[in-house]
Order: sequence, then C-alpha cells, then structure tokens
Amino acid sequence: MTEPRDLHERHRAVLPDWLSLYYERPLELTHGEGRHVWDADGRRYLDFFGGILTTMTAHALPEVTKAVSEQAGRILHTSTLYLDRPMVELAERIAGLSGIPDARVFFTTSGTEANDTALLLATTYRQSNQILAMRNSYHGRSFSAVGITGNRAWSPTSLSPLQTLYVHGGVRTRGPYAHLDDAEFTAACVADLEDMLGQTRGGVAALIAEPVQGVGGFTAPPDGLYAAFREVLQQHGILWISDEVQTGWGRTGDHFWGWQAHGAAGPPDMLTFAKGIGNGMSIGGVVARADIMNCLDANSISTFGGSPVTMAAGNANLIHLLEHDLQGNARRVGGLLLERLRSACAGLGVVREVRGRGLMIGVELVRPGTDEPSPEAASLVLEAAREGGLLIGKGGSHLGSVLRIAPPLSLTVAEAEEGADILARALRTADGAFNGQAAAGTSQTGTSQDTEGSAGQ
Ligand code: PMP
Repeated sequence: MTEPRDLHERHRAVLPDWLSLYYERPLELTHGEGRHVWDADGRRYLDFFGGILTTMTAHALPEVTKAVSEQAGRILHTSTLYLDRPMVELAERIAGLSGIPDARVFFTTSGTEANDTALLLATTYRQSNQILAMRNSYHGRSFSAVGITGNRAWSPTSLSPLQTLYVHGGVRTRGPYAHLDDAEFTAACVADLEDMLGQTRGGVAALIAEPVQGVGGFTAPPDGLYAAFREVLQQHGILWISDEVQTGWGRTGDHFWGWQAHGAAGPPDMLTFAKGIGNGMSIGGVVARADIMNCLDANSISTFGGSPVTMAAGNANLIHLLEHDLQGNARRVGGLLLERLRSACAGLGVVREVRGRGLMIGVELVRPGTDEPSPEAASLVLEAAREGGLLIGKGGSHLGSVLRIAPPLSLTVAEAEEGADILARALRTADGAFNGQAAAGTSQTGTSQDTEGSAGQ
C-alpha cells in the first residue's frame, strides 16, 4: 500500500501555485481560543497575525459561536429578495458608526468584492473609468481589484479595463519624497496629484486609498494627507473611497476608522470593509452616501452577501468589540507593544524601523549596514518566531521585507510582553545571521522558499 501523501503535497497537487503558503513546513491550524491557535501536531502559538486576517476580537469568541450556531439552526435561506433581520441590524450599526451622512450599506462576501462594488458605484456615478490609486496599494484579487493594486507582487495582469493613475503618498519611508518632513511631503504629494489631474482627459471617478497600507507593509502617510488630497479632489468632483479592510473597527487605536487620522477631510464618500468584522465568517461591504449607492438603475442581488449566519456573527462580534472597548485596548496594549519592540530592536542592524498605530505594527528589515530591503531576514524571523511559538505576518513593497504584527484586538498586556520577547529573540537570531554575513561580505540566503507572492495577505 502506498503511504498517504501529506497535506502539503495534496495542496500542491490540486490548488494553484500562486496560492503561496507561509513557512518551509506550512502550518495546518486546527483550532483556536482567545489569542492562541493550535496546529495539527498539538503545538500552541500566540497569534500576532490572525487579527488582520479574520479574527478581530478573539478566536472562538463564545458570543459569535453561539450566534452562528443559533442562526444556522434557525434558517439558512440566503437571498437579498427577502427581509433579513440580522442584515438590517448590522447595516444600521455600521451606517451609524461610519461617519458618512445618510449612509447606505451593501454587504458582500469579501474585501475584493466590496472594492469591486465601490468601483462599480464610482465609475457609474461619475461616468468615468479613470481611477486614482496609491503606489504600493493592495485592494483585492478580482479583475478590477488587481487593476487598482499598485503593489506589482500582487497584481498579475495589466489588462484591466480601468484606467488607473498611481499617486504618491501611501509609502512614507521610501521613494523620492522620503527625505521630506511631514509638511513638505504632503505638499509634494498634492503637487504630484494636481499635476496628474492636469494631464487626464475627462473626469476622474475616484481616489481609492488604504489609510495605512496593509499588504504594503503597514506604512502610512503623515496625518492630514488625505484632507489635503480631498480639497483638490472636491474641486474636480472626484470621489474618495477609503479602503478600511485592514484599518477599520478600531485597529489603529486612536481611531475607529483609518480615515479619521485625516480628520479635517471629513468622512469619505465611500468606505469598504471586510476581514475581521465577521471574526471568521465571510463578510465584506461598502458604505456610501445614499446618492452614490443609489446611482445604479438596474436591479441587483447578492445570494450570499448579507446572509443571516454571517450577519449574526457580525452583530455579535461588533457588539462585543464596542462593549469591551477593544479600540481602547488596541491603543493601550498596542502602545506598550510598540515601545517594547522599539527598545528590543535598538542596536539591531537588521531593523530599519519599528512603526505602527494601535495593534497594527510593522518592523522593516534591511541588510545590516545598508538601506536594502531584506526579505531573507524577514523569512528567517518568521521561521524563528514560529519555532518560539509566535505567528506573525510579512508584507511590504520589497518582496516581503516588513514583519506585520496584527493580533486580535483583545490582546492582553502579558501576551503582548510574551510575544515581544519571542519576536525579539527571533530578530536577534536574524541580526546575528545577517550581520555576520554583512561583515564577511557573503550573499544572503533565506530560510524559506518564499517568492514575492508570499509576502502578505
Ligand atoms: N483591501 C485591503 C486593504 C486588503 O488588505 C485586502 C486583503 N488583504 C483586500 C482589500 C481584499 O480582501 P479579501 O481578501 O477579503 O478579498
């Protein structure tokens, strides 16, 4: 009898090559609780990445589990053709929190589909297929979403029917304006935007931007950049779409939505959300001003968007988040974590910068003694952290050279300290390995077979 093939081999045999996996020995997670997950070998890990992927509050949050199973036992029929109480309730909650006046909410099943819908609305409303997007951005995997994704590692085609113009400003730490102070940087990006608009033919539909770039490596412009952009956009009637798929729901600590760091800009015309709101259930959506949402003059339907089971999860999760002030927790615990990581990284040549807001923290790695991004060091740290019992992510425009830390928002101080210590040890290991190589002038070798495609999520 032949040996059964392991799950990794079976994955490779039937799933696309471009569905890249983290780790040399990819991980199979079997269950989770709170801020911890377990693998198929029974090993426990502190999860410093699941917060961005799907687990906004906590793994297996009892209220969500209860709401999902109760709803599943009641009715599974899904269609937007009938009244759906959990959908109306979640829409009311999100509209109220969005800051958008006279807001309408449309539910989808993913962030990609949410951005697709926002593009359908913006292009129809403005009767234009021209979109402004940020360099190094990520907005999803559909044909239209890859067409507005500036990060080439995540945009496999140039055949989009959208005309996309990429604007400076999403990445602060690298590029031609990196040496400028906040005010100069903002002025340079606004001048770039004005110059670009001067060269377009006809109207532009919208600017879409992540307030903090997620896949792009947790990098943000100075506060107020989007307020400055907005002034220009409004002169041309151009809409502003804030992609809050990673920054929404209080993750950045100081604000409930990422756009609020640009307060003077007021609310965007549309915002998109997904990921953590369902705590594992597939919910995405768009919030838009009523005149924009209602600009479509044909019928539409969504079979699974807003289905009762996912909406029950979203309501339970959001109520928990608000009642336990998890935004405040993100601010407090995230602040401590940032400080602890900054002091642990002081003096490590492999670390270029530790940055972040709330529980969205990035550690950018370079070849020691240079400014060259080091995806190899990031892979080594990821593996070493896993060995130490900690899961983290990576991203960034340079083939995944930024470590990404985004735990569930209920992270405790003790867990933050434990995770920071494991990560500090992993970073010291990488520093030792790469500083040694820098001194010997040898080339770096990564520990994993990662390609640029495995840099983020
Ligand atoms: N926008 C942003 C900012 C994202 O980070 C992602 C997912 N990484 C998406 C959109 C797409 O979301 P989904 O994977 O749910 O389609």
